[in-house]
Amino acid sequence: MRWAILTLVLAAGVAQAQQGPAVTRFVDSVLARMTLEEKAGQLNLVRGEGTLTGPASRAGSDSAVRVGRIGLFYGVRSLAATRHLQRIAVNETRLHIPLLFADDAIHGYRTIFPVPLAEAASWDPDAAERSARITAIEVANDGIQWTYAPMVDIARDPRWGRIVEGSGEDPFLGSAFAASRVKGFQGANPRVIATAKHFVAYGAAEGGRDYNTADVSDSTLRDVYLPPFKAAVDAGAMSVMAAFDALDGVPMHANRRLITGVLRDEWHWGGIVVSDYTGIMELMRHGVAGSPAEAAERAINAGVDADMVSEIYVNELPGLVRSGRVKVATIDAAVRRVLRAKYELGLFRDPYRYGDSTAPDTLYRGEARRIARESIVLLENRQHTLPFSKNIKTLAVIGKLASDSLSALGPWAAIGNPHEAVSVLAGIQRAVSSDTRVVYGPDPNADAIVLVLGETSDMSGEASSRAFLDLPGDQEALAEAVIGTGKPVAVVLLNGRPLSVGWLHEHAPAMIDAWFLGSEMGNAVADVLFGDYNPGGKLPVTFPRTVGQVPIYYDHLPTGRPPDPNEHYTSKYIDEPWTPLYPFGYGLSYTTFGYEAIAVQLDRDTLRVSANVTNTGDRDGDEVVQCYTHTLVAHVSRPVRVLQGFQRIHLSPGEHRTLTFAIPRRLLGVDEPTTVDVFVGPNSTEGLTSHVTVRP
Ligand code: BGC
Repeated sequence: MRWAILTLVLAAGVAQAQQGPAVTRFVDSVLARMTLEEKAGQLNLVRGEGTLTGPASRAGSDSAVRVGRIGLFYGVRSLAATRHLQRIAVNETRLHIPLLFADDAIHGYRTIFPVPLAEAASWDPDAAERSARITAIEVANDGIQWTYAPMVDIARDPRWGRIVEGSGEDPFLGSAFAASRVKGFQGANPRVIATAKHFVAYGAAEGGRDYNTADVSDSTLRDVYLPPFKAAVDAGAMSVMAAFDALDGVPMHANRRLITGVLRDEWHWGGIVVSDYTGIMELMRHGVAGSPAEAAERAINAGVDADMVSEIYVNELPGLVRSGRVKVATIDAAVRRVLRAKYELGLFRDPYRYGDSTAPDTLYRGEARRIARESIVLLENRQHTLPFSKNIKTLAVIGKLASDSLSALGPWAAIGNPHEAVSVLAGIQRAVSSDTRVVYGPDPNADAIVLVLGETSDMSGEASSRAFLDLPGDQEALAEAVIGTGKPVAVVLLNGRPLSVGWLHEHAPAMIDAWFLGSEMGNAVADVLFGDYNPGGKLPVTFPRTVGQVPIYYDHLPTGRPPDPNEHYTSKYIDEPWTPLYPFGYGLSYTTFGYEAIAVQLDRDTLRVSANVTNTGDRDGDEVVQCYTHTLVAHVSRPVRVLQGFQRIHLSPGEHRTLTFAIPRRLLGVDEPTTVDVFVGPNSTEGLTSHVTVRP
C-alpha cells in the first residue's frame, strides 16, 4: 500500500526533524515536503455531493484531490464514496496525505435523537453524551471523522430559527451540554472531531434574523456567549467553527481579536478553526474585503484555518505569500493544525480505520426513545387530564402534524429516514389496547382527543427566522373548536422554538411540549400520554407571551424601576404583562414534589447549598432540582438570578433526598461584602430562599 510507503518516507524525515513530541516531529516532517499549493490545498474544505454518485461531481472532485487541491471534505455520506476519495488521496497524490471527512451530524446521523433544544429540556447532560456517542459511531461507519456539532450558541430570541440547534438561553446549562456532547463525540473509539459552533454570538443576531449583525457588550460576551465555547474547548473540542455574524463591525471570519486573541492566546487552544459555509467569501459582502485575495488575507490572519466551500484559500493563499501579504508561517500554523488532527485520529497510520461495511443496519431505537421521553415537558395538566387510559373506547387524533414523520425528525436530520421515524399517530396506534379505536380526524363519538399542533420542522433551523411566534396558520381556531367540545384534550406541541401559546395555556386541559424528538418521537409521546413514562423535562428557554416581549430571559439584570403593577413609572408594558408565559426551568409532572430545609454554608472557596426534596404524590417521577443565586450588591449589577447547579433525580412516592450543590465562590461575582440570595426550586421563579453574607 502506498500509504505504508508514506509512513516510511516520513519516518526517515522524522529522524532529521526537530526534537519534540512525536506528533510535532511528524507534522513538521510532512510540512517540510509541501509546496505552497499543497499547503493551501490542505486548508481547502469542499462539499461532496451527497454520495458522490453523479459522474460529473465525482470526476471533478477526483481530479482535484489527485492534484492536492483538497484536504478536507464535508457532506460525503456513504462509505463507498469516502473510501473512493481516500484511496485517491493516499495512493495517487504526491504526498499521500489522507483526507478528513466532516458532516453535519447535529442530533444524530442515521438514528435521529431529539433536536438539541429538546435534548437540553431533559436537563440530563449524560443523555446528550450518549446520543453524541451513538452519532459518532454512525458517522464513523461511513468513513466520516468530524462532525459540525455541538452547536453551543446561546439563544435568547425565539424568532431566530437556529435556537433549535442549541441548548437554549442559559450559559450554565449550555456549558454542561456543550462539554457532554464533546465528550460523547470524542471521548471513546471511534473518536470523531467535535466542532463547537458558531464562534461567537451568532445567536445574538439582531431582530432574530439569521445571519444578521450582533451588538453585544464585552461583559455579555464574557458572561453569556463565550462560556459554552470555553466549556467545549476545556472538554477537548478539536475544532471550532467561525460564525456568520459581525461583532463591533468586524465579521467573525475576520475577527482576529476573538479568534486568535481569545481562542488561541487566552485559552491556549490549538484546534482547527473552520470557516462556516462560504464565510470567507462573504467577507466581501460584509464590506471588509474588496476582492477574494483580501478576504483570504483577512481570514487567515484572523486565525481561520480551513476554508469551507469558498475555495478562496486554495486559489489565493499561494499568491498572497509570494507577494508578501501573508507570512508563510501563518499558513504553516494552519496546515500544522490540520495535519495534527489527521495524525491524532490515526489516519496517517491507517487512513481506512474509520468505516465499517459490516455495521448492523439498524437504528439505536432504545436509546433514542429513552432520550426522547426525557426531553418532553408537561406544560399543563388540569384535573389530571393526563395520563390517558389505554382503554379509551374511541380516541381521536387531530392535526396534520400527527402523521408528519418528516417533522418528527426535526431540522438537520442528516441521513435520517422519515420512513423509519415513528410519527405521533403511529406511536399512539401502537400503544393503545386492541379495544381502543383510534380515529385520525375529528369524531363526535371520541371519548378523548390528542390534538397535535405547532410547527413543521422546516419552520426552524437555518434561515428560518420568524417574525411571529404564534401557532402557524389556523391552528388556534382549530384548537378553540376542539377544546370547545369540553372533552378531555391533550395538546401535543411540535416546535423548534418557544411559541406564544397563551390561549392554550389558559384553556388546554393538558399540553406537552414534544419539540421534534427524532426517530422514536411517536413512541416517546405515547409513553407520556398513557403514563408509561412520567414526564420530567423542564424548559431550557423562556416562553414569551408575545413576540413583543423578546428578548426575554430569566437572568436579566435588575432595573432601577422593577415592574410594579401599582406604579406607573416602572419597567413594564401597558398592554401585556411583563412576565413570561412559561419561565425558564419550568415543567410539571404526574406527581408532585415538596421542597424544604434549605441550608447554606460558606467555605473558603465554595458555597454549599442543600435542600430536601420529597415526592409528595403517588407516582414515581423525575424532578430537575435547580439552584440559583443573586448577588445583591457589586460594582456592576448582577443578574436577578443565575443558575449555579441542577440535578435530575428520580423519586418514588414518599421518597425524599437531600441534594447538595457546591458553587465555586468565584462564580458568585462578589467584589465587595454583600448578601447573596440563594434559591433551590423546581424552576427559575419558585422554590426555597435563603441568603448568606459573602466577602470578596
Ligand atoms: C451552517 C453551519 C453548517 C454548514 C455546513 C452552514 O450554513 O451555518 O452550521 O455546519 O452550513 O452545512
